[in-house]
This record gives sequence, structure tokens and C-alpha cells, in this order.
Amino acid sequence: MSTTSRREFLAQAASVTVVARALTHSATAADVPPVLSQPQPGPLVVSTWPFGKPSNEQALKILKEGGSPLDAVEQGIRLTESDLGNPSVGLGGIPNSEGIVQLDACIMSGPGHRAGSVAAVTGFQHPISIARRVMETTRHVMLVGEGAMRFASEHGFEKGPEVTEGQREAWKKWKAEQPKPTTGGARPPAPNHDTLALILLAPDGNIYGGCSTSGWGYKLPGRVGDSPIIGGGLYVDNEVGAAGATGIGENVMRFCGTFLFVELMRQGRHPQEACIEAIQRIAKLDPKGFDLSINFIALDKQGRYGAAGTGSGFQYAVASNTYSRVEQSPGLTAAPIGPVGGNQGK
Ligand code: ASP
Repeated sequence: MSTTSRREFLAQAASVTVVARALTHSATAADVPPVLSQPQPGPLVVSTWPFGKPSNEQALKILKEGGSPLDAVEQGIRLTESDLGNPSVGLGGIPNSEGIVQLDACIMSGPGHRAGSVAAVTGFQHPISIARRVMETTRHVMLVGEGAMRFASEHGFEKGPEVTEGQREAWKKWKAEQPKPTTGGARPPAPNHDTLALILLAPDGNIYGGCSTSGWGYKLPGRVGDSPIIGGGLYVDNEVGAAGATGIGENVMRFCGTFLFVELMRQGRHPQEACIEAIQRIAKLDPKGFDLSINFIALDKQGRYGAAGTGSGFQYAVASNTYSRVEQSPGLTAAPIGPVGGNQGK
């Protein structure tokens, strides 16, 4: 074990307690024993996937430099959106079936219960910033497509390529393999569709969050996933906590995924318990059971956090003023996470 990973391991061991009482998995193959993190003061940032780690660190840096928690969320997410090598967030993402990257994002402020969101935006580098501007300067919550892009242009947001060279080449290959004519439908997702959902407990106890994605690779033009949907891919309730999602959006938005997680925390569940219980509930309702390819993160007002996925292998990033690390999420089945699942049983 390297010095760094040993340090991370010790820090992790010190801050979590293995759950004494067994959490009831209806699937027994959880690959990681669930642990219950202890309360801690903010700042605490939790985000999806290992690529969330630099975003968490950026968010903390912004706070340290005197930025607001919303600045921290926005700038944290912008860092990942700027990485054109990331195939699932920002303009480096996998394009839609017409070869154009189509981005979704949203942001929420616990104080005031405010929200802003954009969907199906093409050619703009930072949908998270456009979402924030919608929240702060309009009387609306969500702008989509053409209207969102006109708004972004009027507000002078940075433009970028419709698609990167590498993604264009991959798309051409994919397109050539498709039966003609391309009739649409729920195609299997391209590998690597992911989302950066980032939730933050500020030092003053207020909660914030944001979410950004290029969505389901090779999706039908106009398809919008869960990520910009308030209560779908992200939900913040300043009395309780926040949750964020990644995975097949169709399997999150049909259940108001993150809203459900927050409601379970409101009823007293630790974020880790809420994550597991909510996924169990979703899997019970859905004909596909646990074959849904969905993953969640959650944190509460006390600074406790957790995560879970329908399959195994989901990783998420956690950072505070004293540590920044990637953690392994419990998976409710042994099946590896990945582009399995699909839309509504099809
Ligand atoms: N939830 C995203 C979407 O469906 C994709 C992902 O997170 O994997 O658009």
C-alpha cells in the first residue's frame, strides 16, 4: 500500500463505523460492507465517481478563498466540465445519435430552496453556470434546447466545439454500425455515460448541490435524462440533506430518485441507510429489479454521508478540510455496474 493510500485508508477507518445492525439487503451480494459515517462539521463535499475528487477539492479551495458555497459548487463542477478528456461531462462527452454533444445540468441552493436547470444545450462549455444564471436571474427553474442556448448567448457564456475530434471519430464508427435508417428507440447506452453530481454541506450548515452530464451516449436528439431534473438527478432540502444520482437517467427519473432519498433521511435514516433502502424500494417496483444501473450519493445536515448502487463497483469522492479521498460504494448486487439496464424494461 503506498503512503498516500495508507494515509487515506487510515483516515477513512477513523471516520467510519461499520454498521453493527445488518442493513437488510434483499440482494445479498453487496460487495462492500455498509459503513455509517460519523457526523462532522462542514465543509463536506461528496460527489459521484473518482473524477469528482478534483471537483471536490476545487470546491473547498473556493470556499477557503472566501467564495460562497454556490461558487464552490459551480467552480467545482466547471473544473470537470472543462476536461475535454472526460467522456461524460462537458463538451468532451459522448454525442447524441446525430453526433452533437447535448448537455444537461442543474444547481440547487438549500437556503431559499432555489433551483436552476438547463437541458439539451449544445456548444456551451459550462451548463452548470448557465443553470445558475437561470436560477439567479429569471423567474423560471428550467430552460431547454433552443431557448436555453439563446439565454446562454445573451449572457455571454463561453462556447466550445459541438463535439471533440476523438468523440466524432468514435461516433462515426458507431453510426456506420447502426441499422439504416436510424429509427431511434432506446439504444444501449454507450460505455462511460456518467454524471458529476456534487453535494456540499457548508460550514454554516446550509446545503447546496449541482449536477452536470452529457447524458446517455448516442441518445436520441432531445432526450433529457435525470440530471437536470430537480428531485431526479439532484435534490437539496436544507432541513434534511441532499442526494445526487448517476446511471441510467430513465431509471432514476421515473422514481423521483433523489427526492425519495432525501425523504428517507427526513424520516431519520442515516444517508447510507437511505441509499440502500431507496434502491431496494425502486428495485421492488421495477420489473427489471436491480438491473437498473443506478447509483446515488447522499449527505445530511449532520455531515454524515453514504452511497449505494444497484450493481457493484460504483465509486464516489468525499472531501473535507482534512481529507480528500475516493470511496467504494456498497453495491446491492454483485453484477458490475455498467451500461446494462435500459429504459422501462425495454
Ligand atoms: N444519469 C445520466 C443520464 O441518464 C447518465 C449517467 O449518469 O450515467 O443522462
